[in-house]
Amino acid sequence: MNFVRYEQVQQVAVLSLNNPPVNALAHELRRDLAAALDRALVDGAVQAVVLTGTDKAFCAGADLPELGTPKAAQDPDIFTLIREIEAARKPVVAAIAGICMGGGLEIALACHYRVALSDAQISFPEIKLGLMPGAGGTQRLPRLTGLTWALNLMLSGETVRAERLMETALFDRVVARDLIRQACEVAMEIVDAGEAPRRTADLSVDEPYAQSLLQFARNTVRPRLKGGNAAPLRVIDALAASVDKPLQEGLRLEREAFAALEQAPYSRAMRHIFRAERLAAKVAGIPGDTRARAIERVAVIGAGTMGGGIAMAFLNADIPVVLLDRSDEDVERGLANVRRNYETTVQRGRLSEDAMAQRMARLSGATAYGAIADADLVIEAVFENMAVKEDVFRKLDAVMKPGAILATNTSRLDVDRIAAFTQRPADVLGMHFFSPANVMKLLEVVRGAATAPDVLHTVMQLARRIGKVAVVSGVCDGFIGNRMITFYLEQSMVLLEEGASPQQIDRALETWGMAMGPFRMSDLAGLDIGYTIRQRQYAEDPGARRSPIADKVFEAGRLGQKNGKGWYKYVPGQRSAQPDPEVQALIAAHFAATNRTPRAFSDEEIVERCIYALVNEGAYILQEGIAARASDIDLVYLHGYGFPRWRGGPMMAAQTVGLPSVVRAIRRIRSRPDSAFKAPAPLLLQLAEQNKGFE
Ligand code: NAD
Repeated sequence: MNFVRYEQVQQVAVLSLNNPPVNALAHELRRDLAAALDRALVDGAVQAVVLTGTDKAFCAGADLPELGTPKAAQDPDIFTLIREIEAARKPVVAAIAGICMGGGLEIALACHYRVALSDAQISFPEIKLGLMPGAGGTQRLPRLTGLTWALNLMLSGETVRAERLMETALFDRVVARDLIRQACEVAMEIVDAGEAPRRTADLSVDEPYAQSLLQFARNTVRPRLKGGNAAPLRVIDALAASVDKPLQEGLRLEREAFAALEQAPYSRAMRHIFRAERLAAKVAGIPGDTRARAIERVAVIGAGTMGGGIAMAFLNADIPVVLLDRSDEDVERGLANVRRNYETTVQRGRLSEDAMAQRMARLSGATAYGAIADADLVIEAVFENMAVKEDVFRKLDAVMKPGAILATNTSRLDVDRIAAFTQRPADVLGMHFFSPANVMKLLEVVRGAATAPDVLHTVMQLARRIGKVAVVSGVCDGFIGNRMITFYLEQSMVLLEEGASPQQIDRALETWGMAMGPFRMSDLAGLDIGYTIRQRQYAEDPGARRSPIADKVFEAGRLGQKNGKGWYKYVPGQRSAQPDPEVQALIAAHFAATNRTPRAFSDEEIVERCIYALVNEGAYILQEGIAARASDIDLVYLHGYGFPRWRGGPMMAAQTVGLPSVVRAIRRIRSRPDSAFKAPAPLLLQLAEQNKGFE
């Protein structure tokens, strides 16, 4: 295939990039572009060149699958191309429609003139991956737009329509139609005027107050930098060079800075997540020609906390929902909760009255199963109790139309057992939403032993439609996320019972980057949840580790945020947690009663115990095939549990430290008699031994 189309329109050679869908700069495209340019430059009948893409994309920059492989550097690389375009003796005009970003924008900047459709989408998104433009963008853009626009585009990574840049010298024409004709016109005007090509490199940055502007930018970004992210400051340094250094010097600085950012853990983590989100959609065992079932109407059983949130997630995507509960009062309360939730959003100015009315109009309530029989998908969110779930699923099996998908939002129960309550286990799976379900991005899609591929496929597609990040999990107690959190919370309890305070434990983990430490998180979820789970464990396994302090705190009537007292106390209407002497007294009484002295912990040990408990269980989950890949586990933690994005998720964080060091730390922790730390997963040991990572 030819990746660049070559046409001659009178005296102009029109080169059209042709690497669908977005003209990524793969080696084949670079090769054919260099060849087409050579042809145009030697052809005596050609006076000028127009470089263009398709309606959808001028060029979206680097080819992601190629990044980091030798192919990315294969000749001609992007630097060579840019040099040759800029050096061309015949005028080269970029004609830009659709996406023009990153390396694609850098190519456009190296052209001598630029014509764009008014709605062309211009951006430098590198900053979102902890990177910066690396092929001259930081040197050429400010020469055309001035510093303010360059700072805005490169520090935000946001997309701007070409027409907004009309005030700058970036575009010679911004047009509504006839892009190629107008670009050819610009080219021929230059030829007819006998002018030499105008090279961006020969311009200088026109900015009277450059130094103060740059200093202001530094002061603004510095306090917001997280996790060792150096990209914003490097962008500003490179832009500073564009003002007072020759182009070649600026380009050298830019390349050095780019290379350093590319190696830094921050950008590695951000790129890992970027890839992880694309990979998670690829599910093994779904044939390529699988067709999704149509989902037009949804029913939710159980109008409680989760049921209401789940209903909103669908209403927000314009999908009608019937909410079913046991009694009219239960239904009314559920509907009222949804309404109140939307009203708050309207009051905060984030939703219009109209939009709210439309959403509420798509929501109805019911107590009889007849009202939901024709739904395409039903999601059960009743009490976490197998007998209740059984009753619901038997009823659903009896009434739902053939082909309807039956999902459970259970947090920990066996999805295969639930499926077996029906005559159609192939249509059953878990859709595990996180609270609040209308806000949290994560959806664990639990694949049962009998779940049909098209059912899984349908739900994965639907997840995207309602704005969720879906990760497939196999069936086990707690699936990926809650199964891992059990071990994390258990370590936080061990630390507590050996002498660390809830405040110290929370602070250590929050300083490390967790959005919320384990005790604040438990207060938010409600202390009844952990208590119920523990009571079940004590009953099922007399040898189960007990958490006496946690039990006493709950038994003292402390439910968490919902009644203003849990591990902390809460002032009504405020979310900030304050240490509570009552809890401190309960803890002190425990040490007195058991005749033990509290031990001191370093923050480092706290973090290692809790985070490596996640990593270790993650490795078991991977080894058992509950998760298909380590990056899926990372996504679960990022989108469901407030894990810091810049650490890339627990598995990536462990890899950054080095698995051999993680294993050594786990052995150190386990050498203490009461560590309660599970034996390291065989997979973890094996990878550490081979000095490998999880991927
Ligand atoms: P909830 O107590 O707030 O709501 C449960 C609702 O189910 C109530 O409105 C109740 O009236 C209704 N219900 C009970 N039995 C019913 C029946 N037989 N038929 C119809 N309706 C019935 O509980 P919740 O927190 O919303 O949890 C619901 C499910 O979601 C549970 O399986 C839970 O494990 C799971 N879950 C909860 C969370 C969370 O953070 N709360 C997160 C993920 C999953």
